[in-house]
Amino acid sequence: MLVYKFGGASLDAPEKLDNLSRIVARCSEKLIIAVSATGKTTNALEEVNEAYAERDTDKALRLLAEVERQHLELAASSGLGSGLGSDTGSDTGSDCPIDELKALVGETATFIRENKVRDFDFCYGRIVALGELLSSVIVNAHLNRAGLFSRLVDARGFMATDSIFREAKVYLDKTEKNIRETFPFADTDRYLTQGFIGANPRGDVTTLGREGSDYSAAIIASSLDAESLTIWKDVPGVLNADPKLFPDAEPLPELSYKDAAELSYYGARVIHPKTIQPLAGKNIPLFVRSFVEPELPGTRISHGKSLPDIHVIAVKPNQILVSVLPKDFSFASERAVDELLAVMHAFQLKIHLIQSSPLCISLCTDDGRNARLAIDELRMNGLVLYNDGLELITIRNYTDELIGRYTGSREKLILQCDRTIARILVKG
Ligand code: ASP
Ligand code: MG
Repeated sequence: MLVYKFGGASLDAPEKLDNLSRIVARCSEKLIIAVSATGKTTNALEEVNEAYAERDTDKALRLLAEVERQHLELAASSGLGSGLGSDTGSDTGSDCPIDELKALVGETATFIRENKVRDFDFCYGRIVALGELLSSVIVNAHLNRAGLFSRLVDARGFMATDSIFREAKVYLDKTEKNIRETFPFADTDRYLTQGFIGANPRGDVTTLGREGSDYSAAIIASSLDAESLTIWKDVPGVLNADPKLFPDAEPLPELSYKDAAELSYYGARVIHPKTIQPLAGKNIPLFVRSFVEPELPGTRISHGKSLPDIHVIAVKPNQILVSVLPKDFSFASERAVDELLAVMHAFQLKIHLIQSSPLCISLCTDDGRNARLAIDELRMNGLVLYNDGLELITIRNYTDELIGRYTGSREKLILQCDRTIARILVKG
């Protein structure tokens, strides 16, 4: 049994959906397919939620209508809109998904009009999960039309999480049990489901954090002891740098789980950092392959082979450096550091780099709504300064020449080096 995950960039145009069908057609084994939202849909739905949080219901509905328009257009331009294809008689619906798409958007619109719970994160789960629901309906119709019948399963029914709506923690034991029951492969060889989304014990919709559908796919693979997980991407595997930023990036044919986890943590945007753990525990290999050139072998990630000596570079954009200077010179005290970390934790902020001196402690994290709320909170106890618009660059197997090459003339705010890794925080 295999698990395939297709990300948003592989789903946002008719020819890409054709690629997906071709890849699925070539797989003769039992298969579970997990999809994320198409293209930039998750960003668009985040904007819907932000407008809604600012109580601008009209704007929220307008932005939602645009998301609907894009999906109807994608379905229509993929030849799914006409309903002309024969109903295949499968129990998974016809190949005309228009009514289903409209119904899903309609439910979200009704939520926006009628919901009374004004909690940003709660509404986020409810609104943003729409992206994965819509894409799974389109992919399902597409596969059905190609004669590749798949049973569509709603991930909210098996991905059991806590109630941290935007970065939910998965209850692994419960979820594994659910997955074993949900995917029996008794009367079908192929399932389709959504990544990224789940539900808390009350049934409220939760999400696993941005880019979280890799993690969903890894949990499915590990729960069912899959032979492997393949993540189909718009790059020919894991490269030693982001090819959009560095045209001379080279593919890495093999990586160890440890190296892959480290690279994703540093911001190599190829796999979600949490993806590796469920797979490594069960020794399930992870393949990262190109949906454009599926004949290429891509990268194989497994136990064993460690990263070769070539340099690897990862860039985290949109960072903010928050510096806290307590009023009473109390910084050296561990309690002050604990308090600072507790605030970061309370706002679900990941600390990407930390630097301390006797009178000041500085943390680098993703900029955004939560970072700004955390700064307001920290200001109650001391002086807080910040620098925004920063990039955090990590170079593995660095040299001075490489640091110079990748930072150029940009101002360096922090430079931290150990024997193999240099981390440089620069103005963007
Ligand atoms: N659609 C979600 C996002 O864009 C999850 C994912 O793509 O993995 O973050
Ligand atoms: Mg995505």
